[in-house]
Parts: sequence; structure tokens; C-alpha cells
Amino acid sequence: MSVQDVLKVIEENSIEYVDFRFVDLSGKAHHITLPATEVEEETFENGVAFDGSSIPGFRGIEESDMVMLPDTESTFIDPFTAHPTLNIMCNIHTPEGDRYDRDPRSIAQKAEEFLQTTGVGTAAFFAPESEFFIFDDVRYESGQQSSFYAVDSEEAAWNTGRKEEGGNLGFKVRQKGGYVPVAPVDTQQDIRSEICNLLADAGLRVERHHHEVATAGQGEINFRFDTLTKTADNLLKYKYIVHNTARQFGKVATFMPKPIFGDNGSGMHVHQSIFDGDTPLFYEKGSYANLSETALHYIGGILHHAPALIALTNPSTNSFKRLVPGYEAPVNLVYSKGNRSAAVRIPVAAVTPKGCRIEFRTPDSTANPYLAFAAMLLAGLDGIKNKIDPRKLGYGPLDKNIYDLSDADKAEIRSVPASLEEALDALEADYEFLLQGDVFSEEFIHNYLSFKRDEAKSVSIRVHPHEYSLYFDC
Ligand code: GLU
Ligand code: MG
Ligand code: MG
Repeated sequence: MSVQDVLKVIEENSIEYVDFRFVDLSGKAHHITLPATEVEEETFENGVAFDGSSIPGFRGIEESDMVMLPDTESTFIDPFTAHPTLNIMCNIHTPEGDRYDRDPRSIAQKAEEFLQTTGVGTAAFFAPESEFFIFDDVRYESGQQSSFYAVDSEEAAWNTGRKEEGGNLGFKVRQKGGYVPVAPVDTQQDIRSEICNLLADAGLRVERHHHEVATAGQGEINFRFDTLTKTADNLLKYKYIVHNTARQFGKVATFMPKPIFGDNGSGMHVHQSIFDGDTPLFYEKGSYANLSETALHYIGGILHHAPALIALTNPSTNSFKRLVPGYEAPVNLVYSKGNRSAAVRIPVAAVTPKGCRIEFRTPDSTANPYLAFAAMLLAGLDGIKNKIDPRKLGYGPLDKNIYDLSDADKAEIRSVPASLEEALDALEADYEFLLQGDVFSEEFIHNYLSFKRDEAKSVSIRVHPHEYSLYFDC
């Protein structure tokens, strides 16, 4: 879309406000809103200034002036504002006009530019499956800032024994029995359908939606794959629309990986493949799961760098409460066709040569998608460059249910890091692959490590409710 096209959209849709958005280090969106009458051709050249010092993980106070430069390719009309508003995603530049090297969106674009220089292929495609819970309410229990949330859902009332207003009408989701039941067990179909309508209006091609396994109102909506930065933009739109539609229904949606102990968590499995023009590079008929050598090496790169990669794909303390055995979240660093207990799964049902792809199941939606997709691509490309063969490194293929293996067999298999701190240590020891093509800078990695170490510490020093159960009556 050209600048002229955007100005036309503003005029034709009687847009009153233009919302300029960018993402911070954690992948959260921020915005500054201009009256449409203030938006001219020059706004797209000069950008919109903001104070970078107030954004977590960005600049020091002494160098606060930053500029948002709008990308006309990423616009959508906001379905939630009372006044017609056009949203535009922006890149962050320094006042000198350079790309800011901590801007996640610029990093995503640099990763795509790097792919072009490798000679491997012309485009990498990504498709995230970002799961979420929709709860009836969130309670901020202790009144202490950042203590903990208690959550509940009408769907789970059978299990909690909670008395419902108007009586308990049954038809509740059984423990881990939430995978695709029809109404009245599934009470969230209309919310998900409404989300899908709004996603389509925002330019996403929705493929399907369904209830997920967890007991208390878990859902998943899949939208069509696209190139790296576009998919990250789509994920930002997706989260915005899920959060705000739930709010309109008087409910609350969360992408937190493990909101409820003892139930399934929410993952963000990421499907990925590389094409050279129209040719899919991951397909080779007749081999294991129809995978080409290129695909195998890509998997080798992902699994070899996984402990470090996970610091970007699972960057929260809560992420590691999901990555435990027994809840369909991967724990073991192996690949497999069909096996959902492996970190890398190769979907084989109803897959065409062009649809041949790998699914990395570890990530969750606390990941900043711009950083996580860029890092996964760089790990995969490193695997291709160095011909990292996952078969020779004990990474599979493994088609048994890993949860059922003997302890001796399990000991042979590498596991995901057990905590955010462990993942950050792994990243500190292994980040060369991220520096390929100057996609990530060394300064970025060090800043990221210290930002996330502070976050991990902020959690570990707080008193946990379970400590009361363990120690109160000591
Ligand atoms: N919710 C599971 C996870 O945490 C995944 C379930 C599925 O296979 O879709 O990854
Ligand atoms: Mg799922
Ligand atoms: Mg999946």
C-alpha cells in the first residue's frame, strides 16, 4: 500500500484518528494517536516522535528521543474504538534516522533480509498457533503489587464445585477434557466466532477455531501462514482482537502460558518452512515424513540451539511452569512425525508438498514474535549452513511417546531448560548464531539478558502462595 492509498483509506472511511503503534522488548504494543487531520504525506517520511526512556527495555533517560516510522503495509481499521481509527504498525528509528537496534520489528526485517543473502531461499513462512484462556474474572488477591492472580471460569464450575447463579446446569468441561466438545459444554463458540470475524476484517485469513484441552475455557484460532514480519504483525493484531473481544463479552482473555497449576497450559506452536520462489525446500517425497535434507538441517539448528533459543521463544518465568511432562507441552529436544511430546513435530496428515513444514512446539505467547521468529530462522539457517544432522546428535526421529520411555532411555534425551534463568545462561553461552547478518547485535543480547534477569529476580524474591502451604506451620 502506498502512502497515497493510506490517505485514501482515511478519507473513504471517514477515519477520525490514526493510531501509530510499536512494540517494546517484551512484544507489548504501545500507541500514540493523532487526529487524522494532522496526518499528511510528510508524517510518513518524518514519523512520530516519542519518549523511548519510558519504554521498558529501551533507552536510558539521557537519550530518550525516538521516532516511529509507519509501515504502510500494516494498517487496519480498529474495530473497538468509538471514533473511527486506523492503526498503523511502525518501526523505531533514532533521531539520526537509523534503525534502532533494539527495535524488535527492525530485527525481524533484518532476519528476512539476511535470508536473501544466504542463497538458501527467498522467503521463510511462519504460522503460530497461539492458545489462550478466556476467564470470567481475574482477582488480584493480596492487594500487593505483582502478587498473584486467582482465576475462574463458568466452564469449570463442575470441577470447582462453585455454586453458579441460577443453578449449575451441568455440561461442564471435565479435567483436561476440553478438546473440541460442542455446546453447551463449549460456552465460548460465539466469542471465538466474533474474534474470527474481526480478524478477517483486519486482513487475516482465518483457517479454523476450536476449544482446547484445558478445563477452564481454553481456545485456539489458527490463521494462515505468511512471511516473517507480516506474521508477527498478524500475531499482534490477533492478540489485540482476542483481548478486546473478550472484554466486550464481559470476560478476560490471557495468553499466559500456565495460568492454572495441574491443567494444560497455552502454547504457541510455530510452523515454519522455507521456499525458493515457488519451490518448497522442506519437501522430499519418500523420505522420513517427506523431509528434505534442508529441512533436517533446519531442525538440527533449532534443536542444537534450543536451550538458547528458548530464552527468546519462552521468555517468562511462567513459561517454564508449562514446559513440564504430562500436558502436551514439549519437554524433550527431539523431532518426530505426529508425536506431540516432541519439541519438533512434523505434521503429516493432509500435507501437500507446499504445506511441508516443521512445527516447533516449545514457544508460548509471552514471546515477542518479531524476536522469536527471527531467532528461530537464524537457528535453522545456522543448521543448514553447518549441516547439523539431528539424527547424528541423538535428536530423533523418535516416534514413541516420550513420556512413556524408561528412565534410562529418557536420560539419553536432552531436555528444555528448567527455568528462565537456565535459558538465559544458555543464551549467554550460545548467541553467535543470532549475530549472523548483524540481525541481532551483541549490545542487544547483553541488554536483553540483563532485562530478563531482572524480571526473573523480581519473581524469585517474592513470597509465593505455595510457600504458605509448605512452611507456614513450621
Ligand atoms: N496446550 C498444549 C501446549 O501447551 C498443546 C495442545 C496441542 O497439541 O494443541 O503446548
Ligand atoms: Mg493447540
Ligand atoms: Mg500444534
